[in-house]
Amino acid sequence: RDDVLRACNSKTILKEHLEATGGKVRTRFPPEPNGHLHIGHAKAMFADFGLAEDRGGGCYLRFDDTNPEVEKKEYIDHIKEIVDWMGWEPFKITYTSDYFQKLYDLAVDLICRGHAYVDHQTGDEIKEYREKKMNSPWRDRRFLESLKLFNDMKEGRIDEGKATLRMKQDMQNANALSDALFCMDPQFIPHPHAGDKWCIYPSYDYAHCIVDSLENITHSLCTLEFETRRASYYWLLDALSLYQPYVGEYSRLNITHTVLSKRKINSNVLRIMLMMVMIPFDDTSCLMRDMCSLSISTAINTFVRGLGISRSDGSVIPLEHFEHQVRKELHETAPRTMVVLDPLKVVITNLASSVKELNAKKWPNAPDDDTYYRGLSVPFSNVVYIEQKDFRLKDSKGYNGLAPGKKALLSFVMQGVLHWVDGVDPLKVEVRLFNKLFKSENPGELDNWLDDLNPESKVVIPCAYAARSLKSAEVGDKFQFERNGYFVVDKDSTPEKLIFNRTVALTDTYKG
Ligand code: ATP
Ligand code: MG
Ligand code: MG
Repeated sequence: RDDVLRACNSKTILKEHLEATGGKVRTRFPPEPNGHLHIGHAKAMFADFGLAEDRGGGCYLRFDDTNPEVEKKEYIDHIKEIVDWMGWEPFKITYTSDYFQKLYDLAVDLICRGHAYVDHQTGDEIKEYREKKMNSPWRDRRFLESLKLFNDMKEGRIDEGKATLRMKQDMQNANALSDALFCMDPQFIPHPHAGDKWCIYPSYDYAHCIVDSLENITHSLCTLEFETRRASYYWLLDALSLYQPYVGEYSRLNITHTVLSKRKINSNVLRIMLMMVMIPFDDTSCLMRDMCSLSISTAINTFVRGLGISRSDGSVIPLEHFEHQVRKELHETAPRTMVVLDPLKVVITNLASSVKELNAKKWPNAPDDDTYYRGLSVPFSNVVYIEQKDFRLKDSKGYNGLAPGKKALLSFVMQGVLHWVDGVDPLKVEVRLFNKLFKSENPGELDNWLDDLNPESKVVIPCAYAARSLKSAEVGDKFQFERNGYFVVDKDSTPEKLIFNRTVALTDTYKG
């Protein structure tokens, strides 16, 4: 009889699910608003939004906000901005906290069905009992008692740490690790989205599967470390007779010379260390926000698409691979210009001092009328600046720079050798060079990973000399500075002083 009931029930559930979705794919991208997004999240967005887009479905942007202690409105706003910047359009924006009442009601239901109980074990006791595969002494208390205590928890009548709502999972099962349903908010602090309405909060394992189910998610994709939680996911939905999404896992993205874990990125010590090497926190190259100032969302998407979404344990991807992708895109899109980072004044004695206005091409093979930035001409006179390193008192074999008695060609959109800037009133700009954030390939694996920070990861050149046509450049504009790399105008720029960030240098060492 039970089997027949079950079969009828699942038929109804499926019917309701299909009515809700119209048979369309529904996915969700579920960040916890406890930090800035990083490039690893680009992979998750590609998996979730990408799958829905491929199949003509929709993807929720769901803030998994069950932990007010660490979550902030600032992160919610940042995440929305980045999702949009990456070119993804959410089907709907939702918050797990919008479902708190429903989650509470379902917890009451679970208690009534005999699947959950209020426990008073301390964290240490829970751990010890779990190791010994023993049930908590409170597990078999009467359900009415649990109901009353659960209500007391909700009303804030029980202190933090004195009670937890737990599910009655089989303690013999190795996966019965995360069986907490609701815990007290330790500090009774207001929630960034739900305000001060609640003082108990659902656990990830409780909330995630239920909200997936309530939102009729068809494919719930997550990274491999969540695989052990799958048993509890299905256990709960089964216990509550709710619709069960398909759950699948894929490997996390890791890139060399950086850390892609919010726990590490949020570490206060890292912030302090970055300040010591004069890197404002939001400038670290591991952060999506920084990527944002580099204006390369399409290159990020091409990069993650190229890696694919699979379970194969993503070994750490070389940073050079990513940079290769970025360079490939900028090669096609960033107009050429010239900026001298370390200026040396050169006077051409056999040239009249009058200034000529030259029309330079935007690209080496561009048509003649496709000129430098905004069609502005390039002044040229008998005084120019070149890089210090392009002059030597002593010539040597293989050296292409200027030396006594030696000829050198001034470049004009990749046709000469030395880049230069005219000496009459050159535009003075700040240039920031970004290098690897960490010295080792895999800093996350080091015990003392913070000691591995590269002190040269950001080098500031306060006064470089730039072609005057750059004067009207705007935040986000991208350029190739001949021989120096690809640069973008930083948001910190002022009308008095433009600031350029180097997105990537020109030399490609990737052997993909
Ligand atoms: P962290 O471990 O860095 O705190 P998280 O997994 O808690 O990350 P969330 O912001 O809560 O991060 O997760 C949003 C989604 O992004 C999740 O589905 C998560 O699995 C995924 N995600 C996070 N980091 C990566 C990564 N490096 N590669 C691929 N997906 C990731
Ligand atoms: Mg996390
Ligand atoms: Mg959480």
